[in-house]
Amino acid sequence: MKKRRVMLKLSGEALANANGKGYDEAVVRDIARQVKRSVDAGVEVGIVIGGGNYWRGRTGTEIARVKADQIGMLATVMNCIYVSEIFRGEGMETEIFSPFLCGAMTELFSVDKANALFAAGRVLFFAGGTGHPYFSTDTGIALRATELGVDEILLAKSIDGVYTADPKLDPDAKRYDTLTMQEMIDKKLGVIDLTASVLCMENKIPLAIFDLHGDNAIADALRGVIHGTTVTV
Ligand code: UDP
Repeated sequence: MKKRRVMLKLSGEALANANGKGYDEAVVRDIARQVKRSVDAGVEVGIVIGGGNYWRGRTGTEIARVKADQIGMLATVMNCIYVSEIFRGEGMETEIFSPFLCGAMTELFSVDKANALFAAGRVLFFAGGTGHPYFSTDTGIALRATELGVDEILLAKSIDGVYTADPKLDPDAKRYDTLTMQEMIDKKLGVIDLTASVLCMENKIPLAIFDLHGDNAIADALRGVIHGTTVTV
């Protein structure tokens, strides 16, 4: 029987400490324990991590965007090294892939190597986004998900789904249980960027959005139970 294969996206901020920087180790350990249960149950798990706890190419700097984005991509590599190490400490075997060479710190991405390591039960981290400036880790995850034929992309956020409006600003905002990718694009709901949305739509990869901090939310999402919003294609 074909195993369930999913990609989990963690934002950099979700891992950050109370100052919004670096890491909250307890949060990362809890994520690791939830992922381990799913891996032990036979789910193939790929992980993409943003870079917002270190650096964002688009904001807060006057330097050239290309350079700022390079720093952002390296921030995602650092995040993967940290989180991968915590995962290993919790008893999982991992590999970090990147789209550019980082010496012995990561492995250069290849579909064949990734498929072989998924089959061997490793948790795979996809660091460095697409490897190109002017893109995001959203697009990175959509690209890797397409190349590796994943069943679903899981977006663990600091909000428990997609709402009709920002619930912090609008008390009448309602959460969607499901919506289509086309609706998500048309309504400009900002779940993932447009480039990533189009890749997911063209390649028929559904999304799920849920609260990273919800009780067992990650373990449930990894086995297909979503406490949040599902975006169908
Ligand atoms: N980044 C990039 N290309 C990619 C992925 C990421 O240039 O393919 C850079 C970009 O500067 C981005 C940063 O890495 O701001 C962190 O990625 P993330 O997706 O967290 O950025 P966000 O969309 O939150 O700004």
